[in-house]
Amino acid sequence: MKTLKTKKLSYIAISVLSLGFLASCDNNNSDDNLDANLLENNLIQTDKESLLFMLEEEKLARDTYNYLDNLWNITAFSNIKNSEQSHMNAVSNLLTQYNITYDILPQGEFANQELQELYNQFVINGQIDAVNALKIGALIEDLDIVDFENYMNSITNNDIILVYQSLQCGSRNHLRSFVSTLSTYNATYAPQFLSQQEYDFIVSSDKESCN
Ligand code: MN
Ligand code: MN
Repeated sequence: MKTLKTKKLSYIAISVLSLGFLASCDNNNSDDNLDANLLENNLIQTDKESLLFMLEEEKLARDTYNYLDNLWNITAFSNIKNSEQSHMNAVSNLLTQYNITYDILPQGEFANQELQELYNQFVINGQIDAVNALKIGALIEDLDIVDFENYMNSITNNDIILVYQSLQCGSRNHLRSFVSTLSTYNATYAPQFLSQQEYDFIVSSDKESCN
């Protein structure tokens, strides 16, 4: 985790420097402006895919918890599904800010086939019992934390990184919440995406306050 954090900070520094460079070009000749616009568009183009993907991954969380909440009536699902709606709003606000068009499909429907297959599997496994349902919750958060980490290490736009840091913080709290509810059923979750070390660090540390 430490190396990843250091890497992330260096990306933020580069991103701030680039923005400063672009701003300094504003009143220069038109060639410089053209270069600056191209650079800015490329920056947003590269990060666009991550926003569109994460919007649907947040929707995967919201739709799955909505479905599982109706099945099992467990407080964790009803609380966290509302939080996932606010995560979707945070990502869609960024898409709007950068004039990127997007669709939000109806409950349980996804443009991304991998997310669609995950949802379909969650609907089947989530019916087995409450423990399986809660393990699905933990798995979604486990995946979410790792996807945010990977995107934060590849994107350069500072606005997006700040939002992802906040949503990743929320996902760590959700993971803590599902794991702690699982423990009331004498059940445990085994991480599928996080390393055992990262997972242990998260679930043994206190709930965070996320911006
Ligand atoms: Mn989320
Ligand atoms: Mn979550």
